[in-house]
Amino acid sequence: CGILAGRRTRDLVDVVLSGLRALEYRGYDSAGVAVLTPGSELVDRRRSTGRLADLEFRLLADPLPPGAVLGIGHTRWATHGGISEGNAHPHCDCTGRVAVVHNGIVTNAAEIASLLVTRGHRLTSGVDSEVVAHLVKEELDLGWDLAAAVRITTRRLEGSWALAVLAAGHDSVVLTARNSPLVVGTGQEGNAAASDPVALVGTCEEVSFLDDDDLVELGEDVRWFDHHDLAVQRATTRLRWRP
Ligand code: GLU
Repeated sequence: CGILAGRRTRDLVDVVLSGLRALEYRGYDSAGVAVLTPGSELVDRRRSTGRLADLEFRLLADPLPPGAVLGIGHTRWATHGGISEGNAHPHCDCTGRVAVVHNGIVTNAAEIASLLVTRGHRLTSGVDSEVVAHLVKEELDLGWDLAAAVRITTRRLEGSWALAVLAAGHDSVVLTARNSPLVVGTGQEGNAAASDPVALVGTCEEVSFLDDDDLVELGEDVRWFDHHDLAVQRATTRLRWRP
């Protein structure tokens, strides 16, 4: 339902949470956040059913490690799989090295899930989105970088998606979308992305929307590719808050 992703060296979790708060009007049943700290072997993740306040309560009791620079967050409106902490995003692969947030519906997820099980994966949720994390991990294991792994993965998907993907050992969040909105913003303190530009007001000065099947590597710099994997630039809009 709502996606927020960011790369920044200060206030990362606060920016992810305040971006998600700006998306609250869309409604949701659970929320979660995952971060990557430089040098870490695993993604750190916290999730909760209910409101963002419930996630914040969880974070107070069990804080994320300081020093994280890459993060993704999600507010979920369940389409596949009931409302539970285990079904909340971000979803991870078996090893906890890859984390994914997803808006939309992967319509062939059941087929992919059965294939993954025959290849030894253990799926832990009933959510269509989880297959994305496992597929990305398979491609990373074959030696692809994160952008290529996400691209190869989306070629196997049917349906609609806005995706933000983190993986240990990779220094950017990879974003891609089809039939689901996603916007990337740049700012003085870092770069961020969201499913709605309203979530980037206050943290980014300029935003650009992804076209279908664009793929963006959001790191210290932003690298943008079209559906042919050719480098492109999309039109930018200045974000201004008019009260
Ligand atoms: N299909 C996914 C789920 O059920 C994503 C739903 C959403 O867009 O929030 O978790």
